[in-house]
Amino acid sequence: MARVWDPFELVRAQMVEEQLVRRGITDARVLSAMGKVPRHLFVEEALRGRAYGDHPLPIGEEQTISQPYIVALMTQLLELSGCLKVLEIGTGSGYQTAVLAELARRVCSVERLPRLAERARALLEQLGHTNVWVRVGSGTLGWPDEAPFDRILVTAGGPAVPPPLFQQLAEGGRMVVPIGDAVNQVLTLVEKVGGEMKTRECGECKFVKLVGKYAWET
Ligand code: SAH
Repeated sequence: MARVWDPFELVRAQMVEEQLVRRGITDARVLSAMGKVPRHLFVEEALRGRAYGDHPLPIGEEQTISQPYIVALMTQLLELSGCLKVLEIGTGSGYQTAVLAELARRVCSVERLPRLAERARALLEQLGHTNVWVRVGSGTLGWPDEAPFDRILVTAGGPAVPPPLFQQLAEGGRMVVPIGDAVNQVLTLVEKVGGEMKTRECGECKFVKLVGKYAWET
């Protein structure tokens, strides 16, 4: 990422300490990435002063950028290393994508709303992330041409694990996905072990709807 003077450096360091370290995020690489990615640039100008607050924020088109703690928790659950290929469903603002890009070899991100995808793509490019590909598409179908993926992160909530995503997960791979109803979900860790699905529940969460063939209709 290109280095420029950043007036939010201090407030970002406070966010990492107070919202992440204090609540038990321990992965040093995750903490470092979130101390680096300029979250304020992923929200509209009028909301920049609140970008590092302990809450989600609107990003237009009735969608939201997740609360910092949730981004950290999901990223930590993925257990990323710099040699892994990641699929993200729900690019949104591109903030989570940037955090993943700091920690993985390559990130393929799918967003269904073209305006959000275009804005995220432009910002990620401007910030110098050269290992990210953003595509407009129906995320519950995954990205078959690029499969298999070592890690998959779904940042919208659906009723179940979309089968194409599990198919596109590499053996030994990990997927994090919010599963539940349209309002409340459980953050679910899915692992592929010997071709079988192993799941673990990792706390409650609230995401916008995952919309598509293998999720909610609208
Ligand atoms: N990770 C994002 C949060 C995005 S909110 C961030 O850091 O800003 C969830 C996003 O998922 C929304 O932008 C929504 O349009 C998108 N989405 C919902 N269903 C989808 C689908 N089937 N495929 C791709 N994107 C989807």
